[in-house]
Amino acid sequence: MTALIPLAYLIAAVLFILGLKNMSSPKTAVRGNLLGASGMALAIGATLVDGRVGGYWLIGITLIAGTAVGLWLAQTVPMTGMPEMVGLLNGFGGVASTLVAFADLLQSDHQSIDTLLAIGLSGLIGTVTFSGSMIAFAKLKEYKQFKQPFALPFQTLINAGIVLGVVMLVAFMVTTQSFTIQVLCYLAIVALALVLGVFLVLPIGGADMPVVISLMNSYSGLAGAATGFVIDNNALIISGSLVGASGIILTQIMCKAMNRSLGNVLFGKMAGGGKVASADEVYANVRSTSADDIAMILDGAQRVVIVPGYGLAVAQAQHAVRDLAKLLESKGTNVEYAIHPVAGRMPGHMNVLLAEADVSYDKLLEMDAINPTMDTVDVAIVIGANDVVNPSARLDPNSPIAGMPIIDVDKARTVIVIKRSLSPGFAGIPNPLFAMPNALMFYADGQQAVLDIVRAIKAL
Ligand code: NDP
Repeated sequence: MTALIPLAYLIAAVLFILGLKNMSSPKTAVRGNLLGASGMALAIGATLVDGRVGGYWLIGITLIAGTAVGLWLAQTVPMTGMPEMVGLLNGFGGVASTLVAFADLLQSDHQSIDTLLAIGLSGLIGTVTFSGSMIAFAKLKEYKQFKQPFALPFQTLINAGIVLGVVMLVAFMVTTQSFTIQVLCYLAIVALALVLGVFLVLPIGGADMPVVISLMNSYSGLAGAATGFVIDNNALIISGSLVGASGIILTQIMCKAMNRSLGNVLFGKMAGGGKVASADEVYANVRSTSADDIAMILDGAQRVVIVPGYGLAVAQAQHAVRDLAKLLESKGTNVEYAIHPVAGRMPGHMNVLLAEADVSYDKLLEMDAINPTMDTVDVAIVIGANDVVNPSARLDPNSPIAGMPIIDVDKARTVIVIKRSLSPGFAGIPNPLFAMPNALMFYADGQQAVLDIVRAIKAL
């Protein structure tokens, strides 16, 4: 039986890779998820029959408890709460690596140098992932104490000092012959890493959290891979590396979407300073509109682009939006959706929402595809989006979001913005789009607004 374990791990690894491949397209994503889950089930099964594993009753209890909590969370956490959930899961993955490596260290006082090195790295990366993810969780939950970016004077220097301290402790742990000193070094590494994770994420503003979450995701994978070397488990090494690599790729995509360099993310120095104009100044000339007026504007439109944002998710307006698009299409209007990579509160948030409403994937255009043709759009309907359509990113070099790529709805002939008020978005800054001469505000809940527009079009 034990001879089959490496084969089971190999099959699990292939299933993980096929799962990832399938998840790269919404059409095959469900299959991808199933393949990944089957790989994980196989890997867990193979681990359970490994002769080195004992304490089955304890494993049984944790499996049942973990499954119950997982099922409950899957049913109750709303789509808008997913980023926090992912943040928490990253943190738990990190702390699991720290604990497994510690358990392995305590089991034997004759560890080889490479195992000790892997133990040190697991402790470092796993704990940074844990504390960093907990701060990211608190920021995404918008807890008051964590909302504002906070950095100590010389923060980068302090962080560099901590990293240096940890490197020295790892070197000492690997070279010393004393078991007690090895354990003490490990505990000191964990303590410093806890502080480092907090220091890395605290200075980062809420609007930059998607980058942090995907970076923490990558760290949790790297911690898992290091732990795989500690306990000599190939499945853990492979799956950890896959998570580490895919997390870094996603981080880079996110960085590009938010105009942040990876270096800045790594040194926890992202929160844009920048000067913010007062809302009163920016919103001096805002014009509002009604469902009836919008119906008339849409009646003459040939090309309509819908730009969804976080508010669409809050309002659960995806089904109403799909019905509006269908109604317009039945009248010969060309309707597309423009998707910003960080619209909403997690990567792919809008894609998931619209897929839930059976919006055909061919209708979703990415920011780079839609922007060059935005001046041929008759009406852009922005629903619950704010930061991702804020033209100050393009026009105001002093803006905190200067340089962030946005969907250029301001270039459309008419822009209709549906939101409840002039409140800012996640970045907390006013949006001059709302006061532009081609923009009209429709103040309402996203779903109600779209239902009213559909009714008004039908009544024409
Ligand atoms: P924003 O947070 O910029 O704006 C959302 C807008 O939705 C608000 O201004 C709000 O205005 C409106 N809104 C809220 N509820 C409703 C409702 N029921 N009906 C209608 N409108 C509503 O969202 P965007 O999607 O434009 O931008 C995403 C932001 O979130 C970016 O800053 C991004 O960096 C950040 N972020 C993104 C993550 C990701 O991975 N996608 C993760 C974490 C943060 P009002 O209150 O007036 O209705």
